Amino acid sequence: MSLLITDECINCDVCVPECPNEAIYMGEEIYEIDGDLCTECVGHFDTPQCVEVCPVDCCLPDPDRVETDEELLAKIKD
Ligand code: SF4
Ligand code: SF4
Repeated sequence: MSLLITDECINCDVCVPECPNEAIYMGEEIYEIDGDLCTECVGHFDTPQCVEVCPVDCCLPDPDRVETDEELLAKIKD
């Protein structure tokens, strides 16, 4: 399941360098997560790193992007 960033994001930038898949980018107003790149950190870390570092806890699972571990791993770039 990919993650998404809610509108509670304060644009602090902290999560951007922590993402192993470069899935976090600046959107029109707040940071956003590219669901085609986010693997929930599967294959890199035991826990989603954006969730770990976000000071306002606005990185949440996206209920519209339910994926298996196999599907998540397939998204990792070589
Ligand atoms: S869960 Fe991991 S891969 Fe997905 S956006 Fe957060 S840091 Fe990046
Ligand atoms: S760490 Fe949280 S508040 Fe900061 S830019 Fe990332 S999503 Fe937004």
